[in-house]
Amino acid sequence: MTSTLIRNAAAIMTGLQGDAARTDATDIRIDGDRIREVGRLSPLPGETQVDASGCVVYPGWVNTHHHLFQSMLKGVPAGINSSLGDWLVQVTARYRGRFDGEALEVAATVGIAELLLSGCTTVADHHYLYYPDMPFDGARILFDVAERMGVRFVLCRGGMTKPQPGFEVDIPRELRPESADAMIADVASLVQRYHDPDLLAMRRVAMAPTTPTYRVRPEELREMARAARSLGIRLHTHLSENLDYLRFFREVHDRTPIEFCDEHEWLGPDVWFAHLCHTGGDEIERMARTGTGIAHCPASNCRLGSGIAQAPKMAAAGMKVSLAVDGAASNESADMISEAHTAWMVHRAVKGLGRFEGGGDAVTAEQVIHWGTRGGADILGLDAGSIEAGRAADLALYALDEPRYMGLHDIGIGPVISGGRPHLRCLMVGGKVVVRDDAIPGLDMAELAARSRKVLARVMR
Ligand SMILES: [Zn+2]
Repeated sequence: MTSTLIRNAAAIMTGLQGDAARTDATDIRIDGDRIREVGRLSPLPGETQVDASGCVVYPGWVNTHHHLFQSMLKGVPAGINSSLGDWLVQVTARYRGRFDGEALEVAATVGIAELLLSGCTTVADHHYLYYPDMPFDGARILFDVAERMGVRFVLCRGGMTKPQPGFEVDIPRELRPESADAMIADVASLVQRYHDPDLLAMRRVAMAPTTPTYRVRPEELREMARAARSLGIRLHTHLSENLDYLRFFREVHDRTPIEFCDEHEWLGPDVWFAHLCHTGGDEIERMARTGTGIAHCPASNCRLGSGIAQAPKMAAAGMKVSLAVDGAASNESADMISEAHTAWMVHRAVKGLGRFEGGGDAVTAEQVIHWGTRGGADILGLDAGSIEAGRAADLALYALDEPRYMGLHDIGIGPVISGGRPHLRCLMVGGKVVVRDDAIPGLDMAELAARSRKVLARVMR
């Protein structure tokens, strides 16, 4: 085993909660792919040393909900001022047929590059670009790109078994639904090919129908939950993103989405939902009690005007909270620093609305860091996301050496409270360097920009 010592950090944020969020340690020793010790340490003979002086060290961010293919769908004019319902038709439904294997490969490379450069080390991609007789193997492309770039990758295998409303007659090929049996069979084959149950896995698979019950029938949900559990994988989907969705559930199912999920075996420590902007009644308590998690996507929710999840209330109730960028078509960027900054800001605005005294205590930076790191790893079932002995050596070293970060009285929380894109001196995944001084080894950024322009021209045509 090769041992590495990260030395003289100016601050270390552990990703843990409460008093444990900070440490007076300055050094981190890594053995192989795990952290061995954290403290004030002296180098061992022959040990590799990484100079972290002036740097703030975070656990690598864990992004629990993304749609990487959307990296080629930023700022689509027909959807730029739309809310969710119209945006789904104008942007994602309209453009999905224009993706081929090369477009997906370039989009995934762009998305993962942006995430890595923000200090993200784990990506759960909710990939729903599936239709019968697909001409390319999206899963293989995504796993290959993730492996090449060195990021931990969870493929949340999406898809629909019901057609998109408005497209029931003469459905274009790319909007045709799959059968539930075909989807479940493909998930089982993906598990065979890629899924690693190890707590330090680089590759995982999850069952992730796109949205209950817009795109999947009630009885199929239960089948999918049972199939996932028999395969030993987790369950993920979109839920309660806007008020129309709640009205739909009340009218069609006469119950809340969480009551419905409970009846269809879709709650538990192996389930996490994206968005949950609108929750009421005992929904939060039910999720807390069952260990169900949220992928909180504040930037996307702001962009689409969907509302915002009551993440602080969820966390206080004992729910598992994580952070996620969602697809770049509803965010226009996809980096975890922006997401954390938005989370830190938006809950203060929400709490302050209509009050004489404001919402400055709605959420702390330490809490946001926890959501975005250990909170996400916990939801994904990975032994990562915190800086403590035994966890994955997934670490981000931010050198706060630009004007934006000068003058900070507390540099530990600088990346979250100041936002922007801090200079990333080093990013490690399982002890392996994947970013050095804002560059991704082996990735020619000029070439990627040229390829993305070429693909974009085809997607826009
Ligand atoms: Zn989404």
